[in-house]
Amino acid sequence: MHYEELQNRTSKRIRIYKHIDRVNQCVSSSETPLYPITIDIYPTNICNSKCNFCLFHNTNMDRAMLSREVFNKMIDSIIDMKVRAVSFAGGGEPSLHPDLADGIIRLTNAGVKVGVITNGICISDQLCDALQKCTWVRFSLLTNCAEEYNLLTGNDAKIFQRVANNIERVTKYRSSDSDLTVGVTKLISSDLQDEVEIYSFIDFVKELGVDQIFLSEKKQFVGVPSGFEKKRYKNAVKKIQTYARNAEVAININKFTSSENNKYLFKNVNEKCEIMNINLTALITAEGKVYPCTNQYLAGGISLGDINKIPLERIYLRDNIEEKAAIIQQGICKGCKSANTVKEIVLYRNTGVTKKCKDLHDDFL
Ligand code: SF4
Repeated sequence: MHYEELQNRTSKRIRIYKHIDRVNQCVSSSETPLYPITIDIYPTNICNSKCNFCLFHNTNMDRAMLSREVFNKMIDSIIDMKVRAVSFAGGGEPSLHPDLADGIIRLTNAGVKVGVITNGICISDQLCDALQKCTWVRFSLLTNCAEEYNLLTGNDAKIFQRVANNIERVTKYRSSDSDLTVGVTKLISSDLQDEVEIYSFIDFVKELGVDQIFLSEKKQFVGVPSGFEKKRYKNAVKKIQTYARNAEVAININKFTSSENNKYLFKNVNEKCEIMNINLTALITAEGKVYPCTNQYLAGGISLGDINKIPLERIYLRDNIEEKAAIIQQGICKGCKSANTVKEIVLYRNTGVTKKCKDLHDDFL
């Protein structure tokens, strides 16, 4: 639907230039709480799949879920705080939270942009309608082969077909002026040995009405090949790009193969984190804990507070943030996913120069 805009967007780190007002806000006022631009929410840790690569196997066990009361209060707070974008994703499978559809409707009616990452197994009619109001939905389809899907997720061919049908239901309901982008995740090996599969995957998802493919590395990552293999690799990338362009399906093969893919950088001891100090992002987990970023949660870091105990907006009172940020800052952050955004903020602060951002999803930092 938005092929050119999706395929020719600027790098994700450039999205910060759409929020320079917010970056400057911390300089102009030291008392007003600064609320996140983007919040990722894990509404439940319960999952209906058993993907062998899942990051959340341990947390899935506790079957935590935001209670109806806490979930609804959180939605009210997000609207009052004028958060610009919310994504519902992991922990478990977000579609298993009974209030997800209602939450999406309330947020989008209030002007908050919403994205959802789902395995697509359980899309009720109510959720299918709510997804139409989202900015993007990403289905973890992983493959177009039912046998491989079974190996990756433990689910049989019937479930695979159901996911494909659900993707098609969502794309078919779209009106001609819809802003919804429908994406799918595809697992590939980064040496592109499975190149041929990608072509049939592109054909498959094109038929389902999908706009965008996100390639993700299979577990057996072996890195970019060297020597004579490089030539075959470069040719493969070019061929995949051309094939996807002809099908008008956006694909992140460039990002997947570029040096920017080495994005998980380190924050050293006592190094300032611009993301955390001015609360650009947040993660709310199924246990109700609020973290400055996904990485703090996954690394067992320190939470900023608990929405079961205090309202979300109060967690952002300056005293609390300064206390927690000082502790987090003393440590090392291994594999910060926002390191490139932080670099852009530092560059902007040093030079005052802004860059042009061309990105349909620029509110999702
Ligand atoms: S992981 Fe990155 S964004 Fe998160 S607190 Fe550390 S440096 Fe900041």
